[in-house]
Amino acid sequence: MHSDLIGKIEKARRYAQEPERITINELKATFHGGNSDHTISLNDNHWTCDCSFFRMWHTCAHVMAFQKIFDPMLAPEAREATSPITSTEEMAGSMS
Ligand SMILES: [Zn+2]
Repeated sequence: MHSDLIGKIEKARRYAQEPERITINELKATFHGGNSDHTISLNDNHWTCDCSFFRMWHTCAHVMAFQKIFDPMLAPEAREATSPITSTEEMAGSMS
């Protein structure tokens, strides 16, 4: 194999251990929720989800799960809930 390519493969292996090098700016995905599938997207660090909870609260379990999974790869704005909700206890109570 060409030595330049071998160098890149080694670099890629190191980079793959450092997800914080990556910032996801846009994303579209299908989330298989408990009852049905939801389309979730990230545009300019703002989340949207087509579930009914999101329409009221501007965040939801699907968005929060994504924030957990992709945390090292999100811009600071995208890590935070876009809603005026201040405490997670308050939100957890309204979800149950
Ligand atoms: Zn949702």
